Amino acid sequence: MIKKKMKKKATISKEGLPSADVSAESQFDRAANILKVDDDLKNLMKVPKRIIQLEFPVRMDDGKLTMFKGYRVQHSNIRGPYKGGLRYHPDVSMNDVKALAFWMTWKCAVVNIPFGGAKGGVVCDPKKLSSGELQRITRRFTKELSENIGPDIDIPAPDVNTNAQVMAWVLDTYSVHHNRSAYAVVTGKPVELGGSVGRASATGRGGFFVLQEAIATGHVKGVSDIKEATIAVQGFGNVGSYFALNAYDAGAKIVAISQVEGGIYNPAGLNPHEVLDHIKKKGTILGFKGATSITNEQLLLCKCNILVPAAMENQIRGRIARKIKAKTVLELANGPTTPKAHQILLSRGIFLIPDILANAGGVTVSYFEWVQNLNHDIWTEEEVDTKLHRRMKDAYNDVAKAARDYKVDMRTAAYIVAIARVAEAIKLRGIYP
Ligand code: NAD
Repeated sequence: MIKKKMKKKATISKEGLPSADVSAESQFDRAANILKVDDDLKNLMKVPKRIIQLEFPVRMDDGKLTMFKGYRVQHSNIRGPYKGGLRYHPDVSMNDVKALAFWMTWKCAVVNIPFGGAKGGVVCDPKKLSSGELQRITRRFTKELSENIGPDIDIPAPDVNTNAQVMAWVLDTYSVHHNRSAYAVVTGKPVELGGSVGRASATGRGGFFVLQEAIATGHVKGVSDIKEATIAVQGFGNVGSYFALNAYDAGAKIVAISQVEGGIYNPAGLNPHEVLDHIKKKGTILGFKGATSITNEQLLLCKCNILVPAAMENQIRGRIARKIKAKTVLELANGPTTPKAHQILLSRGIFLIPDILANAGGVTVSYFEWVQNLNHDIWTEEEVDTKLHRRMKDAYNDVAKAARDYKVDMRTAAYIVAIARVAEAIKLRGIYP
C-alpha cells in the first residue's frame, strides 16, 4: 500500500481526474458516417495500435517494495509519432487511457500538427507520495517504457498530477538508458531543460485565440468585439486562469469565476489578476472583495454571453443545458459537456466550440517544443505566440468551413476535419483501401 504520511509532499500540477469521456467514440462515429467512411476503415482508425500494461516494483521510503500498475496506449502514429500525456491518479484505468489516447489522435489532427495520439498513466496517488517515491516511480516506469518511447516514436507530456519536474525525470531516465541527449523525448519540460517558453499558458491562450476568431467571423451571438464579451469561467487552474487573464487584458468583462470550492460573481466585472492574488493569499477564491459567492451550478447558469467550462468533464449535463443563458460555450476542459447536453445546447441554438479545437493550444506548443529540441533551437516568446495564433486561427477556420460545407455543428465538424486528415494519410501510405 502507498504510505499515508510522507515527509515531503511532491508538488503536483493538477487536481481531480477529468476521466476519459467515452462519448469520444460516438462523436467519432457521427462524423465518420457523414464522411461515408466504411466499416473497415472506421475500425482501422478506432483500434489502438499498441497497448502496453506494466506491473513494476518501486522501493518506498519505509523500505518496502510496492508494485505499481502503469499503462501506455499508442492509438495512432499515422500522421506522426504518438503524442499524449502521462496521468498519475488512483482511478486511472485502461479504459480511460484508451479513450484519452483516441481523443489525442483527433486533437492533433484538427490543429494539423504531425503527431498521432497516445496517453499513459500510473495508478498511484501523488498526494500521498514523497518526492523521492514519485521520482522512483517515474524513473522505473520510464525505464520499462524506454524502447517504446522516443523523439520519433512516442512523446509523453504532463497530464493530471504530472508536471515539468516529472517530465525532467522522464527525460533523464530515457537519456541515461539510451546513452544520448534526447530533449525531444518529452514536452512540457522545464525551460532550463529544453522546455518552450509559452507552454504553461498555451492552452488558455490558444482558447483565447479561438474565441477571438469566432468573434471576428461573426459566430458569437451579440458580440462583435471582445470588449463586448461578458464571460463566466468555471475552473481557475492552469487553463481557466490563463484564458481569463488573456480575455480580461483584451477588454472582455469576466463576470464569474469558480474553483472546486465554489465561485464568485460580479456583473460589473472581476479582475482575474486580483483574483489570483487573492487565491495566493487566502488559499481559496471565496471571500473576494466586491463579489457575491455563488455555486458552480450558479456559475454555469449566470447571465453572460460566453460560458467557458475549464474545470472537469461532464459539468454541463441535460438539466443545466436547458437553463444556460450564455449563447456561446467555449469548451476548454476535456469533455465538459455530456452528449445529451450537447444535443440540448444545439436545439437551443447555442454555439459550442468543442474541446478538441478549443483546448488544442497546449499540444500545439508541445509540438513547437519538440521542433525546437530537434533543431537545437530556442524560440522567443513572441515567435511561439505568433505561431500559436496562426495555428489556432487556421484550425478554427478549417472547422468552421467544414461546419458550413456539411451543415453540421462545430463538434461534428472538428471530427470531420480530423478524420479526413487521418483517412487521407492512411490512403497515401497505401494501407487502405
Ligand atoms: P488544474 O488542476 O490546473 O485546474 C482545475 C481547476 O478546476 C481548478 O481551479 C479546480 O479548483 C477546478 N475544479 C476541479 N474540480 C472542479 C469541480 N468539480 N467543479 C468546479 N471546479 C472544479 O487543471 P487544468 O490543467 O487547468 O485543466 C483543466 C481542464 O482542461 C481539464 O479538463 C484538462 O483535462 C483540460 N486540459 C488541460 C490542458 C493543459 O494544458 N493543462 C490541455 C488540454 C485540456
